[in-house]
This record gives sequence, C-alpha cells and structure tokens, in this order.
Amino acid sequence: MKSCGVSLATAAAAFGDEGKKMAAGKESCESKEGSSCLTAEEREALGGLDSRVFGFVRLHEDGARTKTLLGKAVRCYESLILKAEGKVESDFFCQLGHFNLLLEDYPKALSAYQRYYSLQTDYWKNAAFLYGLGLVYFYYNAFHWAIKAFQEVLYVDPSFCRAKEIHLRLGLMFKVNTDYESSLKHFQLALIDCNPCTLSSVEIQFHIAHLYETQRKYHSAKEAYEQLLQTENLPAQVKAIVLQQLGWMHHNVDLLGDKATKESYAIQYLQKSLEADPNSGQSWYFLGRCYSSIGKVQDAFISYRQSIDKSEASADTWCSIGVLYQQQNQPMDALQAYICAVQLDHGHAAAWMDLGTLYESCSQPQDAIKCYLNATRSKSCNNSSTLAGRIKFLQNSSENWNRTVPLTPVQQQVHSWYLTPQKLQHLEQLRANRDNLNAAQKLILEQLESQFVLMQQVRHIAEISTGLHKGQSSHLAGPNDEQPPFSAGPAQYLQAASTAIQKQTGLQTLPSNSVTQGAALNHLSSHIPTSGGQQGITFTKEGKPSGNRSLVPEISRHVGDKPNGSASLKGLSNHVQQLMAEPVCSPNHGDSTSPNVQISDNPQVSALLVGKPSDSGDSGACDKVSNFHSTICTKTNNSFASSPSSVISTATPSPKSTEQTVTHSVPSLNSPHSRLHTLNGEGLENSQSSIKTDLPIISQKSGSHVIPSMSVSIYSSSSEVLKACRNLGKNGLSNSHILLDKCPPPRPPTSPYPPLPKDKLNPPTPSIYLENKRDAFFPPLHQFCTNPKNPVTVIRGLAGALKLDLGLFSTKTLVEANNEHTVEVRTQLLQPADENWDPTGTKKIWRCESNRSHTTIAKYAQYQASSFQESLREENEKRTQPKEYSDTESISSDSSGRRRKGPFKTIKFGTNIDLSDDKKWKLQLHELTKLPAFVRVVSAGNLLSHLGHTVLGMNTVQLYMKVPGSRTPGHQENNNFCSVNINIGPGDCEWFVVPEDYWGVLNDFCEKNNLNFLMSSWWPNLEDLYEANVPVYRFIQRPGDLVWINAGTVHWVQAVGWCNNIAWNVGPLTACQYKLAVERYEWNKLQSVKSVVPMVHLSWNMARNIKVSDPRLFEMIKYCLLKILKQCQTLREALTTAGKEIIWHGRTNDEPAHYCSICEVEVFDLLFVTNESNSQKTYIVHCQDCARKTSGTLDNFVVLEQYRMEDLIQVYDQFTLAPSLSSSS
Ligand SMILES: [Zn+2]
Repeated sequence: MKSCGVSLATAAAAFGDEGKKMAAGKESCESKEGSSCLTAEEREALGGLDSRVFGFVRLHEDGARTKTLLGKAVRCYESLILKAEGKVESDFFCQLGHFNLLLEDYPKALSAYQRYYSLQTDYWKNAAFLYGLGLVYFYYNAFHWAIKAFQEVLYVDPSFCRAKEIHLRLGLMFKVNTDYESSLKHFQLALIDCNPCTLSSVEIQFHIAHLYETQRKYHSAKEAYEQLLQTENLPAQVKAIVLQQLGWMHHNVDLLGDKATKESYAIQYLQKSLEADPNSGQSWYFLGRCYSSIGKVQDAFISYRQSIDKSEASADTWCSIGVLYQQQNQPMDALQAYICAVQLDHGHAAAWMDLGTLYESCSQPQDAIKCYLNATRSKSCNNSSTLAGRIKFLQNSSENWNRTVPLTPVQQQVHSWYLTPQKLQHLEQLRANRDNLNAAQKLILEQLESQFVLMQQVRHIAEISTGLHKGQSSHLAGPNDEQPPFSAGPAQYLQAASTAIQKQTGLQTLPSNSVTQGAALNHLSSHIPTSGGQQGITFTKEGKPSGNRSLVPEISRHVGDKPNGSASLKGLSNHVQQLMAEPVCSPNHGDSTSPNVQISDNPQVSALLVGKPSDSGDSGACDKVSNFHSTICTKTNNSFASSPSSVISTATPSPKSTEQTVTHSVPSLNSPHSRLHTLNGEGLENSQSSIKTDLPIISQKSGSHVIPSMSVSIYSSSSEVLKACRNLGKNGLSNSHILLDKCPPPRPPTSPYPPLPKDKLNPPTPSIYLENKRDAFFPPLHQFCTNPKNPVTVIRGLAGALKLDLGLFSTKTLVEANNEHTVEVRTQLLQPADENWDPTGTKKIWRCESNRSHTTIAKYAQYQASSFQESLREENEKRTQPKEYSDTESISSDSSGRRRKGPFKTIKFGTNIDLSDDKKWKLQLHELTKLPAFVRVVSAGNLLSHLGHTVLGMNTVQLYMKVPGSRTPGHQENNNFCSVNINIGPGDCEWFVVPEDYWGVLNDFCEKNNLNFLMSSWWPNLEDLYEANVPVYRFIQRPGDLVWINAGTVHWVQAVGWCNNIAWNVGPLTACQYKLAVERYEWNKLQSVKSVVPMVHLSWNMARNIKVSDPRLFEMIKYCLLKILKQCQTLREALTTAGKEIIWHGRTNDEPAHYCSICEVEVFDLLFVTNESNSQKTYIVHCQDCARKTSGTLDNFVVLEQYRMEDLIQVYDQFTLAPSLSSSS
C-alpha cells in the first residue's frame, strides 16, 4: 500500500476526528450500557478502515485478525444502535456500512449506507461513503447507480486515492452498457494512473484491446493484442487469453486475410495459447471450431473432447458438436449434443435453431416448431423475423400432417425427455402387448420408445460431461484413434434413416407427406428402441464425412455460426476470472505494484464480462439494475419505517414489495427526486444543480433563504478572500467548512411538475415574419429570441428582408470557390419521415446509425446532384407508368401495417464543413455581416467573441450539404450556447425541438436505451416523448428562414429536400445563458466529457472586457471568479509548501485556453507540463490530478504559471456592476 500512503495517511487523520466523534457518541451510549465493547487500540485500528481499503486488506491467513476485528466492530455497533434505538450519529451508519463492505456482507452494507444517506444531508461530501456505495451497487450489477455514485466521487474529490479503481470499474460498466467511447476513456484514465488497483496494467490493456474487438475495430484490436504480446514478463494467463482472442479473431473476421491463411494463423495462435494455458476449455473449443471449418473432423472432435474435459460443460461446445455430427449425417448423435446444449442453457438460440432444423429434416415439423419458438424466445436470438416466417410456413404445411398424426407426448420430448414412472409402466405394458395394438397404440409405443432412448442418451451424455465416465471416454478419444470420440451411439442403426433423410435433404428438407418421409420417421422412431441399450459404446464407421450432402440446411448453417459471438465473450469471462484471480493466488506476482493486494471481489468484476453484448443491448443491464434496485431498496426502505435495529438484519430482497418500488425507494439514494421535500422551499431548484444551489441569485430570489455554505460575501475584497484561503491552505483540509464550500454534484433536472396535459404536447412554434430590413433590426426581436420562455424562434423571410445573397452558399458557388475543401460525411439510413427504426426494420429505436468518413466539396456536390437527378428520373418513370405505379403503391400500403420496415436505403450527409478561413470564404462571410448584431457570428454582445480564440463551428461558420433524409441527431449545443441556422435551400428542413427543462427526461431515455446523451447519436421516438408528457415543437424551415435555438434547447433536424444550411453559435449576454453554460460545464466534468467552451477562461475575459449591468449575471460571474481565485491560491500554497517550484510562463495574445491532455478538463493559470515536453517546447498540459496520478511527487513535471496573482486580484476587484442604463442592446 506504499504508493497510496499519502492519501491513507490523510484518511487516517480524517478518521481521527471521526474516531473522536464516534467515541463521543459512544460515551453517551456507554453511559446507558455501562460497558465498552471496543478498546482504544481497536478503535484506532478501525480508524484506518473504510471503503477505500476494499480489495486491499487481507481477511484470510495473516489478515484473520482484521476480519475478527471488523466482525467485533460490527457486533458492537449493532448493539449500540439497538440500545440507542437508532438515535446515534449518522457517521455510525456510514462506518457500519464500511465494515460490512470490507466483510463482503453486501446486503448489510447497503442497508447501513442507506441509513447514513437518509440522515446525512450533505452525504455527497463524503467520498468514502459514495465509493463504498458504488462498490455495493457494482456488486449487485446495479450499474446505473454504481456509475452515478462513482462519477460523484470523482466530482467531489478528483484526487481520490482510489480514482484508478473507479476508472477501471467505470470502464467495465460502460463496456457492458455498449457505451464504448466512455469505456475507452475510463480504461485509459485507469491506465495512466500509477496507483494500485485490482487489475494490473496489462490486464487493463487487454480490456482496451478487447473493447476494439467488440466494436469491430479489428485492425486496432489486432495491433493492441500484438503489442501486448511484446510486453516483457507477460503473465502466462494474460498471454494465453491474448493468443486465444487473436486466434478466434483470425477464424472469424474476414478482414484479416483469405480463408486458408486466416485459419492457419488461427490454429497457430490457439495452439500457442494452449501452450501458455493447456487447461483452457475455451481455447480447445475455438480450436475445434477452426478444425471443423477446414474439414478436419477428427481433430475437431478431439478438441471438443478436450474442451469438455477442461472446462465446465458449455452449451456452445455441445451445440458445435451437434453441428459436426449433423454434418456427418449422424442425426441421433447430433440430437444428443443439441439436447445437452439446451439443457445447459435453455436460452441458447443457436442450439434450438439447429435442433429445429434437425427435426425438420427428420420430418417432425411440430417438434421443429417448438424448437424455433424456443429460439425466438431467447434473448440471443437475432433473426426472429426469419424464424417467425419459418414457423408460419411449417404450421401451414403441416396442417395435413396434423390430421393424420395426432399431437402426442413425443413432441414434448425436447422439454421433457424424462419419462415419468407412470409412462415407463405404460411403455412396459405396450411392449408386452406389441402384437395386439391398434394403430394409435402403436404410435404411442413408438413415441415412448424413442423417448426412452433419448432419456438414456441424455443421461449418458450428462455423465460424460460431468466427468463420471472420464476414464472410459478418454480411451474413446485417444489421439491416435481413428474414430471420432463422440461417435458413440445409435448412429449405425440410423444408417437407413440417414440415407433416407439424405435423400430428403437433397430435396430441400421440407416436409411433404411423401413415402420417403414416412420412412424416415419410421427409422427415427421405431428402429431406435431395438438397439437402445447399446448406445454409447459402439463405434460407427459411418461417422466419416459423407461428402457433398449436409444435413444442415441453409438456415442453420448461418445459425451454426451464431455461438461465435457469444462464445468469445463467454470465453473471455472465464479467462478474465482467471486473470483476476491470478494476483490473489499467485505468490510470485512480483511485478505487481501491489504485492499485498488481495482482491476480494473478483466474481463481481468477472461477472461483468459474462454479460453478452446482446444481454446488455436492450433489456439486460438496465432491467437488472432497476429490478435489483427496486427490490433491494424497497427492502431497506421498509427497514427505515420499522425498528432501527432492522438496519442490522440482513436485507433479503422481497419480490412482493415491488409495487412500492421505483417511486419511493429508488429516489432514496442517488436520485434527483430525493431531496425535493427535505430541503427548504427551494428544494426543487437546489436539487437540480450545483450552480443553482450555490449562486447568490437564489438567495436574492427568496429573500429569507440564506445559503448556509455561503459565509463569505462576494462583495468582500479579494485580499480578505485570499487571507482566508491562506489560513485554509495551512492545514491542508480546506473542504471541511466555511469558505466557498464544495458544490454538490450536478444532476439532470427531473421532469417539470405538474406534467403538461396531452393536448399541450404539440405547441405552436414561436415564429416571426419579416417584411423589411427595419423589422430585422427592431430591438424586441432580440428580446423575443433570448426570452427563456421561447425555446426556439423561427424568423421567416429573413434572407429576403435583408436581401442576403444566399446563392453564395449554393452548391454551385461552393464548388467554384473551393472544390477540394474537406467535407465530413455521415452515412445514414434513409428512414421514414419522423421515425427511427433498427436496421432490420423490426422495431423503433433511439440509437441512430451515423458513421463518419470524409470527402471533398466537389465529390459531395456530385453525389448531391446525382441523387437529385435519380429522383427526378424515378418521378418521370412513375408518371409514364401511372397504372403500374398505383398498383404497387396500393399493395405496399395494404400490407404496410403488418409488413416490417426496411431494408433501408443508405444516404450520405455532408456535415460540419468549416468556413472559418476568411481568405477562402471572404464573400460568404462578408455577406453574413448584413445580419442584425444579435445573430452575427462576431459581435460585442456575443460571449463567444470574447474567447480570444477560435472554437471551430461555434464562433465560426459551418456549412451542411444535404439530400432528403439527412439527419442531425438529437443534441443540445456545446455548453448550452444558442445557435443560429439559415436554410440556403432549395429544399426544406424539418425541425423537432424540446425545451431545455426536459433535457433530464431525454437523458433518462438515452440511459434506458444504453446511449450516452452527450456523446451518442440518438433520434427520439416521438411516441416515447408523448407518453412521458414531453412537449415537442415541430416545424418546417424554408429557404431563407433563420432558426434561433435558445440556450439549452434540445433539437434534432432532418432534410425534407435537397438543401444546404449554414450555422454557428452565439452567446447572448444574459444570466440565463451564462447559468446554463456553467451548469453544462459542471455536468460535462462529472460525465468526463470535454467542455468545448472554456468557461473559466471566458469568465475572466468577460470580467476584463464587458460591462455587466444585469445584477443576476454580474453576481454569477463574480462568484465564479471568486471560486477560481480561491482555487488558484490554494493550489499555489500547496505547491509552495511541498517545495515545488512554480515557473513564470505568461501567455501570448490569442493563446487558446488549455485542457488537460489526459482527462480534458480545462486547466487555468497553473499548467502541469511534462519535463520533456517543456524542454521541447511542445507543452503537453496536464491538470494537477492527472499529473499526480502519473507522478505522485510531480518529479516529472514543471508547473508553469500564466497569470500573476496580483493581476487576477485586480481584475476581480475592478469587476463591478455597471449602471443599468448602459445595458447592452
Ligand atoms: Zn486531467
């Protein structure tokens, strides 16, 4: 724990205080009780134990004493709480939570933490609490809540000593949630941190490589895996799994070469992987798949056999064995194998599919239907529509069949191969009476016989797979044995059957009541019993590849490949489990930074990886989270209501209390609802965001309300502030009280209350019609647009009124001006008007396909033009053949209700074309200076003009080139700035707009759909919004119309016709704009997303350059300056105290604001620059926290200072409220 010494020492110091508090609390209890349960030494030892040592304390062997101590502490605390009837200090519960967490008693830990949460208003200041809570949620796979808790830890304490562990776990959870960008970011943040965590850095690197693979970035994945293999002293387990992934990728991915080369590489990698870890059942399985695909049947069987021997029975392996048998024309062996697969994993869609096709090929359509139905019910089924068609077909074509063959128990055999004693008795009777049976009885006999055989086979296989018959089976599978090791069984007497079936397969397997088919059925059902007793022992010579004919029809070949996807992940999970376990059990884990590390939560971490992508796709993770959360929390919630001692009892989730859940229990932790009623009258606002809570504005609004944390007036002079800061700096713990207290972590707003009635959900769009230039410059227009009540304003006919030459932005002119200019291209699906469907057209989704590439203006122009001409041609064709056209139209509209959408045409959208270069785009940019000041790209009243540098697309113009259907997915502008958009034409655009205060609702929808609100591409489902009472403004933007998007407004746009648009951002000088920009700045920080507008830098420039007469705006800016001043001062003090030299660097004019090259947070004034980059003058900037993570003592860094403290102080003091007469126009 050496490398964490500093923070633990601090922690110990902190707990010194709490220890005292606890002791004080105890004394009052002791006086009642008369006896003390913990000695002073024990209390001291416990003082250093909280959630931060989770995973880093030994509880076994030499750590047994710690475990005993923790157990004693828990008992003592519990009895004290009981005695005091729950009336103890809230810290008691927090400590109890920590102790239970360390003992891995998660239900009790959650219960105690929850109690603390309910008692402690400013719980969010307690990073150890939030961290412990996050770990508990993580354990329960409640990722939604775990992510929130962990993000809040980093927000309130960016230098938290377990930041690395948090980033690792966030990386894992985002990976499961398919938010790959966030996942990568957090893995990388974990990787740069040299502190210890529960995975080694090569293991984190492995996750990054696997992340690429999951995203199908195969070349990046291959590169990353290969790079890992170059690592010196790579642990054997990591090596084995890296080789395994490389092998499997080569087998699976077409990009990696021609088939023969790929397979040979795949086999080599897998063999090397098995050298590193001969016991990997998964590698054996993959090897089997490779051999199978190149027709090496013997080797494939041997590998599968090894896989079964080495690992737990796996449904994938059995499914593949089944496929192999089926290919060898051994249907009964295939049947056994598939049944093993579905017994092991009832949701194994591929096995059900294969079993279905097997039944189909054996003319048992009813059984096939059942199998297909099981397949469609499975979550891992991704072609349910094909299957549905197949089922329907079978149902229709087997109607005749049904009339002759009544439904009987044989059709149940897949579900219940087990014969009840009664049925066995029945079978005996029928057998004895064989010669005197009527037709129906004969049929029943046949069915019971086949079921009997099946039962025995399944039992036999189950025995093999559980290792009971290992001795026997290994002799079957001898390496020199010519026989397929699994060819046990009834295959030989199925000879006749399989030839019959083979004929049929040649005829495409569909059941028709032909004679052949009847024969096949007979063979399958009646011939088996006679030799049923011998299965499992006899070999068959018929097991050889039968050559050209396969039993597996098209559909199942495709499906036969399905286990691949899940297999690779599942395999991974096994291995990572080993990986994770490795540091624990291996004493020579020498290179680890944490020799004492004991990982106490391996199963949870590895549990993450078990989740198949499909699980987490739609329902998986989210459902789990809410289900879990509701039950657990309901339980603990109940315990609040009952006796205080119930917090001690083990909370077992009780399913019957779910009704009460979400509304009551979920908000009880971590939710923005939670404090609505517990704060004062301002509760609602306070709970929504930090800035609202702490800004003086709020105290003005409700005169009586004083924010307790604001003990220093912003009107105090800077020298007083700095004096206070200096005193704080001395003892190092500045966050405990008085000045400028920490802000609570920001939270998205809850849905506005009361909900709007349904008839108000389609409000008319605020629109203004301009007739002439005077209208455009009429001051109230500006006021109207920036009024927070108008989320959007359409200024109709602006171009005409101002006589703007829009032709300057027409495609023709653009090509003439700069034909080689870069265009970013988004490849999208052409969707029906206002809907967004998944690529197969089966269901409406939020995720919006939008893949990025690049081209030039000339090439896009060509595409745009040809797309237009193509549609003209189509129009003409329709006109010349009106009859035919109307026919097809009526057919498609007839069936549109039932028919699924798609497949969709692909279109290209030319976006974010940079027009910032005023030499290249002189005419165009000049034309835009004709606009009224408040919408101009550059103006004194535009905050973005005070940045002092360019932010592309924000304070410069961007151009968009569109064909019909081009979509700008849902978003708010960067840092909630306003935006201006002019349609050049000739076609129209359609806009969808949601007011700012509903962004929390949209954020929730994104989370539910596993999308990142800030980073992903999403297209809201209008029905979802209607259900959730979210109002949506919807309007058409014609050529020459200007759309003003107000601060924070959520919007999404699609082109109706062919058109170009131009757009940029503006920042009106209003309190609302500034407030929303700062709020988003903080939310971005919490979400680890870069704020494109550097608000700190901007605030200082505003103080220097702008006279502010709006008192609300003034106070907000002044408050922010004060906070920054305090931060700069405390950081300076700390560095000086630590003996770290601060080097004066200054700054040039127009120097852009700086961002941390690691975490992308804005870095102001004090830049941490690596020594190398300083000497090379490349100045790679870090924030303090990232610098300390890579170099605890900052030895590798120089600290450069950009502002003189006196300068900042002067700016702060001189920034005063301007008289209101000079207010901006
Ligand atoms: Zn950083």
